Amino acid sequence: MTMVPSGPTALQVQPLPAFEDNYIWLLHDGRAAWVVDPGDAAPVQAALRDLGLPLAGIFITHHHGDHVGGVAALRATTGCRVVGPAREALPVAAEAVDDGDVVEALGQRWRVLHVPGHTAGHVAYVNEPAVDLPRWLFCGDTLFSAGCGRLFEGTAAQMLASLQRLATLPEDTHVCCAHEYTLANLRFARAVEPGNTDVQASLRDVAQRRARGEPSLPSTIGHERRINPFLRVREPAVRAAVQTGTTDADDVAVFAALRRWKDHFR
Ligand SMILES: [Zn+2]
Repeated sequence: MTMVPSGPTALQVQPLPAFEDNYIWLLHDGRAAWVVDPGDAAPVQAALRDLGLPLAGIFITHHHGDHVGGVAALRATTGCRVVGPAREALPVAAEAVDDGDVVEALGQRWRVLHVPGHTAGHVAYVNEPAVDLPRWLFCGDTLFSAGCGRLFEGTAAQMLASLQRLATLPEDTHVCCAHEYTLANLRFARAVEPGNTDVQASLRDVAQRRARGEPSLPSTIGHERRINPFLRVREPAVRAAVQTGTTDADDVAVFAALRRWKDHFR
């Protein structure tokens, strides 16, 4: 499946399913490919064979095994570049990047954002496209459609700041998350905001897509602002739903209560 074939210089971006519910994102310009968070080498190798493209590089968002498990094998067989977060220990030596750095890949500039919360050194990558070409965000396990990553190494305040930063990207930014969690996340979003008609419509749409075996992603930043409770902590309905016990709870308290609720939501 190919998305956004909007011109000869537009990147082609596609999710490669891996494990239970991971996506390894593959991007290419027709000449070479990069992948994001290859937890497993096999799906990447199969896709490269199908496309007839060499692997030029790997972006790593964070150190968890389901995101880096295939890096060593891919590097050994292709000699590709490996770019990863400076603040995390990775299984192979990587070009270490941190907030504000820019990586040149596939003819585009990729800006690095340090987005701690899920892990302490987690980074995201977003391109700075030419006018009229799509903008892509690879956000690992920080932002999911209708959800966000669990707080393994960071605080609620850190994660909220990271999410709010991603939410300031342009509305039409394509959001490429590392897991297919959208349907379960939308059920939680509906519990938080039963009156949110965008959540209701997304639930119907995503249920149909998943029933057809299609990915729910990529999302967009504009869509996430309308449906993602973790980006909506200032909405009166969200604040009321978490029942923090005070009417003037700050944003971090609302976010922390939401995250705790989601941790136990079934
Ligand atoms: Zn993770």
